[in-house]
Amino acid sequence: MVKEDSAVHLTTLDYILDIISEGVWDWNIVTGHVARSPGWYTMLGYPVNGLNQDVLTWERVIHPEDLQRVMQHFEAYVNGQSDRYCIQYRCIKYDGSPLWIEDSGQIVERTPQGDPIRMIGAHTNIDDLKVTQAQLHNQSRILKGEFENLEQIIEERTQELELLNRKLAEKVDEIEYIASRDPLTGIFNRRMFEQLLDIEIKRAKRYSQPMCVILADLDFFKEVNDQYGHTTGDKVLLQVAQTLKRLIRESDLIARWGGEEFAIILPNTESETALEMAERLRFSIANQILEEKIQLTCSFGVTKYIPDDSGDSIFARMDQALYQAKGKNRNNVQLFTVS
Ligand code: GH3
Ligand code: MG
Ligand code: MG
Repeated sequence: MVKEDSAVHLTTLDYILDIISEGVWDWNIVTGHVARSPGWYTMLGYPVNGLNQDVLTWERVIHPEDLQRVMQHFEAYVNGQSDRYCIQYRCIKYDGSPLWIEDSGQIVERTPQGDPIRMIGAHTNIDDLKVTQAQLHNQSRILKGEFENLEQIIEERTQELELLNRKLAEKVDEIEYIASRDPLTGIFNRRMFEQLLDIEIKRAKRYSQPMCVILADLDFFKEVNDQYGHTTGDKVLLQVAQTLKRLIRESDLIARWGGEEFAIILPNTESETALEMAERLRFSIANQILEEKIQLTCSFGVTKYIPDDSGDSIFARMDQALYQAKGKNRNNVQLFTVS
């Protein structure tokens, strides 16, 4: 650019422009001449000074899609509507490819009336920066998409897990129910009865409350099986269990103790009430017409909780009372009295 050209007046600025690698421009608004540094041409791939040195050259290298935006910004500055000229846009290189630049400039001379007569500025190549920005933007979009995808997967897995947990809880309930029940009659089994008895013993002790236990054993039940078969025997057992369950109070706990034996806990109950209850049960069974018009009787042993009782000691006494009832011709209720 530095050459002996009568049209171009060499200034210190011209020399500076020569050594700056990127595009620097110097616009004489009065003559319309625009001096551009060699770097400006090199940056856009043109031969140095290979284009007309006027403002139209600048307009022609601006990407058509960016032209209107650039012109609006430029005019606003030159007309004094804005106090800064700095804008990023694409230029079209000599080979037709786009190149992002940042263009910033300043009016450096004005007429006494304030009209601009000279403006200088610089075009800085920001293409790498823009490409990197675009790549980062793209990557962040991909990452965001993957993150949202991940959140969705987590949400789905959480729901699946909650469903499994619910099913598991239902299974646990089911297993606990099965484990605590007698399959034939649906009332508590012996294992559960023993646990419940322990709980009720502790409660009786804690609150100094009375508690009684009844053991019931069907009389000559073996004969039912022998005469009518095991299946009928089962039906009879179920009917007896239902009768007992119906007659006891809500707070009482009944279990199938063994084959044709049933045990009942009567919390907060004195011996007299327990005896009355056992008698009512005995009477109902003895008067019940069962499967195949079978009529059965049942013997009952009753005992009351005493301090320091255990499940075993209570059981031993109620079994003893039942043994006495069997010994007294069956179909009766006996209370084991502790002296
Ligand atoms: P007792 O008056 O002395 O109690 O006579 P019992 O015949 O009832 O007593 P025993 O203990 O000799 O017989 C009990 C019978 O109960 C024997 C068995 O066949 C029957 N049994 C036990 N469990 C079941 C069961 O689940 N189903 C059926 N059908 N019978 C059962
Ligand atoms: Mg028995
Ligand atoms: Mg029996």
